[in-house]
Amino acid sequence: MHYTSEKNFAEEADRKDLLKNFKDLFYFPVRNGKQQYYFTGNSLGLQPKSVRSFVELELKAWEEYAVEAHFEGKNPWFHYHKFTKKHLAELTGAKELEVVSMNNLTTNLHLMLTSFYQPKGRKNKIIIEAGAFPSDQYALETQIKLRGLIPDEILIELQPEPGEHCLRTDNILSAIRELNEELALVMMSGVQYYSGQFFEIDKITQAAHEVNAYAGFDLAHAIGNLPLSLHKDDVDFAVWCSYKYLNSGPGGVSGIYVNEKHGSNNTIPRLGGWWGQNEEIRFKMQKGFHPMKGADGWQLSNVNVISTAAHRASLEIFSKAGINTIREKSKILTGYLEYLLNDTMSGNYFEIITPSNPEERGAQLSLLFKKNGKEVFEALTKDNMLVDWREPNVVRISPVPLYNSFTDVFALGNSLRNILGQL
Ligand SMILES: *Cc1c(COP(=O)(O)O)cnc(C)c1O
Repeated sequence: MHYTSEKNFAEEADRKDLLKNFKDLFYFPVRNGKQQYYFTGNSLGLQPKSVRSFVELELKAWEEYAVEAHFEGKNPWFHYHKFTKKHLAELTGAKELEVVSMNNLTTNLHLMLTSFYQPKGRKNKIIIEAGAFPSDQYALETQIKLRGLIPDEILIELQPEPGEHCLRTDNILSAIRELNEELALVMMSGVQYYSGQFFEIDKITQAAHEVNAYAGFDLAHAIGNLPLSLHKDDVDFAVWCSYKYLNSGPGGVSGIYVNEKHGSNNTIPRLGGWWGQNEEIRFKMQKGFHPMKGADGWQLSNVNVISTAAHRASLEIFSKAGINTIREKSKILTGYLEYLLNDTMSGNYFEIITPSNPEERGAQLSLLFKKNGKEVFEALTKDNMLVDWREPNVVRISPVPLYNSFTDVFALGNSLRNILGQL
């Protein structure tokens, strides 16, 4: 793509944008009477306007049918967790059997670790990228302690090469091969929340399998951001949340993927609950846990219907747009942001630590400031540009293809140029 720094480049790109009408499907935050430029969809996606009617429908069902809404009304709640399967399977590249909506992300991570972290003697090590999202670190630390092991001895945190900010795939693969027999699990992000790096899920999974270890991924920053192919890549399990790129509301229902080959293996240890019980006998209320086939067999509880209703509203938008179309725009849009950032006198102030290869990143650029970071962040906020700040000195900017335009990115570039010019 040949970018230029003139405004008419952005206007022309917007005119040609296949997704240009999707922006109108979302509410943008307004402050002091001014609509804000929103670049934090990687933290909390905007609210689709259609959420209200999806939620209203379930409130109405509750009002009119109460308990009988489990089997009556338009969307019987007994089956409600199934209504997201088709869309989630599309987004993750999985079979419908392999995905289900349930709980919240960290809870799901614990459930997956309970099943797929099975230390046996010396085969007890876990590989993770250094600087993983804190909740994932705490989940791993406490899971390791739960097995009577010592986190510092178990957890292998992969660091970038000196002077680099992202991991090289080759280094990840050699770490896996070096641990060989001692490796039990690789548990990494899909897209790293801090650096924005998109890891090579297929190669990492294959290397893990070569040493008889499981490979699981936290897709919090990957799902809805870029297409995934979990089934083809033979990933063992994955978890995600729905409130970042998936725009399904704060604390919204999470989801899991469990590879088909594990989904009917009842010898894998797991925690059970009545919603994981075979649905044919679920309401017989009898002793004896006989899990559903597939990811459904990991459910504990009946799904949060109100939250899942919001999720469905959003998933429908993704289905209309198509994740491949979203990704095509995303590459160009993030590339445009990168171009504008490099076009400012930015080099003096920050470096972009996200990979410059579009295949190795999604819709996020992370700017590591050498100086004036907090000042620039605050000035951007004051100028109506919502970006986010991560300690100690990173600004993350996420142009989200569903609702950010090229003109939005142009405005951000301008704002940043003015701010840096005044320092
Ligand atoms: C956002 C995020 C979380 C948040 O966890 P919740 O259980 O949804 O609060 C956890 N891990 C990663 C990698 C995240 O990006």
